[in-house]
Amino acid sequence: MDEFTLIERLIAPHAGRRDDVLLGIGDDGALVRPPPGEDLLVVADTIVEAVHFPHELPPSDVGYRALAVNLSDIAAMGGTPRWATLALTMPVSHPEWLRAFMAGFGAAGAAHRVQLVGGDTTRGPLTVTVQLIGSVPAGQALVRHGARPGDRVWVSGTLGDAAAGLPVAAAAAGSPPSGPASFLRERFARPTPRVALGRALRGLATSCIDVSDGLVADLGHIARRSHCDIVVAAASLPLSDALRAVHDDGAARELALTGGDDYELCFTVPPAAEASLRARLAELGEHATCIGEVQEGSGQVVVLDARGDPVIPVRGGYRHF
Ligand code: ADP
Ligand code: MG
Repeated sequence: MDEFTLIERLIAPHAGRRDDVLLGIGDDGALVRPPPGEDLLVVADTIVEAVHFPHELPPSDVGYRALAVNLSDIAAMGGTPRWATLALTMPVSHPEWLRAFMAGFGAAGAAHRVQLVGGDTTRGPLTVTVQLIGSVPAGQALVRHGARPGDRVWVSGTLGDAAAGLPVAAAAAGSPPSGPASFLRERFARPTPRVALGRALRGLATSCIDVSDGLVADLGHIARRSHCDIVVAAASLPLSDALRAVHDDGAARELALTGGDDYELCFTVPPAAEASLRARLAELGEHATCIGEVQEGSGQVVVLDARGDPVIPVRGGYRHF
């Protein structure tokens, strides 16, 4: 199949539809109509085979994940996702692979009413770049630089699952995993972008980030950009039953601190806004846990163990549990 047939038969049918798209796939560019009074929010993420996902990950999961990680960036900014472009580099024209990839991509997009409005298709090592454009009411985006001493630090969902699930996803195909291993694999393969939560945090959170590189690394971005220190209590980290079932407490907490790919939202909220936060979480049926606080400082992240002693970073990881 040539490039144009691939686009027409296998990509365009999964594009989705929105009323604010005047011209989608098929012309030299797409035309979209931004909502009046909103700021445009633009994010992009590239995933490369063997770097960001294992060769063994099925194409439907690759497609789902490629869009989901971008949805998570929109969530972290408090935005509403709208339009995506897809730059796809593939070693060979492989219709079956692309069909499954687009099914996964379309599934992630449909859940958030995203329309794929264009892209590029080229030959080379398997690389997927998605650009996602959304919007946020003017001036209301969540940012990394607004945390203030006294704010408390919250995180949605549970941490460490995706890092524990990666080796399961990378295991050669055979009998599918079950029980906790299956749950952890899904957390890596099909992360849940917290889009509704991000929107609900507008006007409440003073800063927000999605956990893609690992909690300590990502909190470091908030701490540095906000010119504050962040103190995290390791004992308070939310751990899933599945993670606890396959790892002892120390290993599970280390994954929660340093593992990446969970795509949960980590955010800071002043104590005076906590009642509103709890009410909005309850309305959405979302869960978040208070894991620490913001203090005066120069951009450090300090992790305390159950005795209140600082945990020592060891070669990018953290030990002492
Ligand atoms: P051009 O040569 O003008 O860059 P192309 O021939 O590359 O256009 O693409 C034709 C149309 O198909 C364009 O509308 C483009 O946005 C779209 N397109 C190409 N590749 C993809 C893709 N991977 N996903 C979505 N749309 C694509
Ligand atoms: Mg052109």
